[in-house]
Amino acid sequence: MSGYVYDFGDGNKDLKDLLGGKGANLAEMTRMGLPVPPGFIISTEACRAYLRSGAMPAGLLSEVEEHLQALEAGLGKRFGDQKDPLLLSVRSGAAFSMPGMMETILDIGLNDRSVTGLAQQSGDERFAWDSYRRLIQMFGRTVFDIPAEAFGSEPGDEPRDLVETYKKVFETQTGQVFPQAPHEQLFLAIGAVFRSWNAERAVLYRRRERIPQDLGTAVNVMAMVFGNRGDDSGTGVAFTRDPATGRRGSYGDYLRNAQGEDVVAGIRNTMSLGELADVDSVSYAQLLSIMERLEQRYRDLCDIEFTIEHGKLWMLQTRVGKRTPAAAFVIAAQLVEEGAITLDEALRRVTGEQLAQLMFPSFDESAAPEPLTTGVPASPGAAVGALVFDSAAAAAADGPVILVRRETNPDDLPGMIAAQGVLTARGGKTSHAAVVARGMGKTCVCGAEEIRIGPDSFTVGDRTVRAGEVISIDGANGRVYPGPVPVHASEVVRYFEGEASAYGDPLLSAIERLMTHADHVARLGVHANADTGADAARARRFGATGVGLCRTEHMFLGDRRVLVERLILAGTEAERDDALAALLPLQRADFEQLLTAMDGLPVTIRLIDPPLHEFLPPLAELTARVARAEALGEDAGHAGVLLNAVRRMHESNPMLGLRGVRLGLVIPGLFAMQVRAVAQAAAARVAAGGDPRPEIMVPLVGTVQELEIVRAEAESVLASVPGAPPIRIGTMIEVPRAALTAGQIAAAADFFSFGTNDLTQMTWGFSRDDVEGAFFGRYLELGVFASSPFETLDRDGVGELVRIAVERGRAARPGLTAGVCGEHGGDPASVRFFHDAGLDYVSCSPFRVPVARLEAGRAAVAAGTTGSDSR
Ligand code: ADP
Ligand code: MG
Ligand code: MG
Repeated sequence: MSGYVYDFGDGNKDLKDLLGGKGANLAEMTRMGLPVPPGFIISTEACRAYLRSGAMPAGLLSEVEEHLQALEAGLGKRFGDQKDPLLLSVRSGAAFSMPGMMETILDIGLNDRSVTGLAQQSGDERFAWDSYRRLIQMFGRTVFDIPAEAFGSEPGDEPRDLVETYKKVFETQTGQVFPQAPHEQLFLAIGAVFRSWNAERAVLYRRRERIPQDLGTAVNVMAMVFGNRGDDSGTGVAFTRDPATGRRGSYGDYLRNAQGEDVVAGIRNTMSLGELADVDSVSYAQLLSIMERLEQRYRDLCDIEFTIEHGKLWMLQTRVGKRTPAAAFVIAAQLVEEGAITLDEALRRVTGEQLAQLMFPSFDESAAPEPLTTGVPASPGAAVGALVFDSAAAAAADGPVILVRRETNPDDLPGMIAAQGVLTARGGKTSHAAVVARGMGKTCVCGAEEIRIGPDSFTVGDRTVRAGEVISIDGANGRVYPGPVPVHASEVVRYFEGEASAYGDPLLSAIERLMTHADHVARLGVHANADTGADAARARRFGATGVGLCRTEHMFLGDRRVLVERLILAGTEAERDDALAALLPLQRADFEQLLTAMDGLPVTIRLIDPPLHEFLPPLAELTARVARAEALGEDAGHAGVLLNAVRRMHESNPMLGLRGVRLGLVIPGLFAMQVRAVAQAAAARVAAGGDPRPEIMVPLVGTVQELEIVRAEAESVLASVPGAPPIRIGTMIEVPRAALTAGQIAAAADFFSFGTNDLTQMTWGFSRDDVEGAFFGRYLELGVFASSPFETLDRDGVGELVRIAVERGRAARPGLTAGVCGEHGGDPASVRFFHDAGLDYVSCSPFRVPVARLEAGRAAVAAGTTGSDSR
């Protein structure tokens, strides 16, 4: 059967793949008996066939013809009739809404003759010619790509004159007359919708969003209704709840005597939905009852497009509406309260990304001056910094800067990385600046078109702001402020900190309710990466149930650096032992604090990882110091000694050099000192009545032999500390070889923790510091990456190694604990993967803990294992 075309009466809302989102929802409303103008849907299958062969698939046009005849019969009007023509709209509609696709064409079927018929039949000359004018313009723009500017219109022009002008524009631009045959108009429009699937912008958008390129779009063909037929007509949009705050109640705008996108275009002043009640109480009441039915049907916030023609209400579109992050939480909790959805379903309706956005600091609006201008909010955050106009200046600056460019390109990457935020004068949400900033989690406002950029200043109107002056940009709403605007912590963060009560606050109580459920259903635990007692305490307030990574090298910084220097420079065993003995009590005290803050919960302590020369002054600095001394004829002294050490220890690829477990095997006593400090700290906590649960983790292991040697030494140290509780010893899996030989390594490891940062670097064969600035922006732009593999785990490559290691590790040692301590542990998309890969916990920065908790719950719901998904 061919079956490319479906009447609105034949579909339903669950057929989005076949009918597109718009079509499936029009069909649903038709089935519900709502007043939808009649029409039909050409399926995505037809589009795929068209794109494959480059021609209308066999039988499609005759099928369209059949459905059109049925439409005519039902309405008692003919398409192409000269006296009383049936007019159509042709609307694209894919399964996912997508920028760059062809828009809608209204009033198809009008021509030089039927326009007079329409004028007579409607008794409204102006309306008829205005409709024809719109058709020529929309058709020219969308089917023939005539630039919008070509149709310059004078507001006062008579529609009839405009039609003449537009027809001439059409002829000059296309070299042909405006098609007069209604069927030709219709078929050309359908073909144009099909082809727009492959418009450059649409292709790029799909590549970045990882939407398959072969889905195709549906085409909706429907009878026109007219909101531009006088004051008893009009068009509007409405929401069944407030999409900004989630508050119950209907919201919307209505514009009298108007058609289509006039509301959005803001041509005239719109009235609020409430005011519609005053001008047309019957339609208003009907609309409210329809909105209630739609909410019940979709069990969610719906947005609606409607038109009133001579007092008769028509529904033109509905869909589950977009909303702010705050509204998403509030609405999900409300729907649970109303008995419309389960708590599991509520978790499906919010995302970790939304929670993360709610945790960003924001500007204190009450202390903010008038904005200089407003651009496109492209990547959220509140950034304050001194103005710089090029990448070099941004990279060289000491303090925080905002990089301002007309638009950005790959050369600007180092500057974008260095800056707090990025502001551009050109480009929208899919411009280079916007895409790269979002990929890096950096604040960005783009397309601030009022800005005129000079070499070292910009102007807005008559105001000039120079390089070095401070500005503030708000990536959530696009505002650009002069001077520094005070930034305040998010209310949601204050709530997690225990500083704000959820009581009586709709957003905070919604978050509380959903987080409680997430914790209840989650299988994946959430630990935090924390190096100090203070960090660990904060993580615990944010809901972490352990420390998954304590980086001990952070305890070697500041004034302790000299002790490490002594260790590195030690010429004899005695000198080395002295240096280690001096470090021991310091480490022990740090561990005690950490174990106190996480009393009763696991604390995974990683032995020292980075190359030791990172603790010495940089080569350039030492060279300069020695050169200065020599120039003065002085002895370079200590600087000379250090310089020699740095030269001796120089590595071409430090990331792949002497670090991690390799250090432990090369420098006698280093790991033993750390292990002793852990054991002594734990013993002290036990003596104080605490419940310390430290674990020792060995970094950068590539083969089981390394781990066996370290383990043997560690065990003998642990045994020598009286009063220490049992302490597990495990390893990081961050070298591909470790993942592949996980079966062997598991024999010597009580647990695994995936260091996904290093594992990503080594799997891809690139060092993060070198590649992020060099080409990641270009890769994001080209869609090679949807997001940086350092932000979101690369499932196919790195993820495969994780799966292999878990499987082989657990085959060798059933019940082996496995976690993740790379930054991916706090990334929503990656958390889902770790759940599916069967890990026991993720560990992330304290600040990301709530996000990971929410996503851990969502992952369990998505996997369908919660057993709580009933109402
Ligand atoms: P978008 O996907 O950009 O919202 P739509 O296909 O919804 O595009 O069309 C835009 C607007 O055109 C609609 O909101 C509606 O006002 C108007 N429109 C579309 N079809 C019709 C129709 N059959 N009769 C009257 N107006 C229509
Ligand atoms: Mg629409
Ligand atoms: Mg590592």
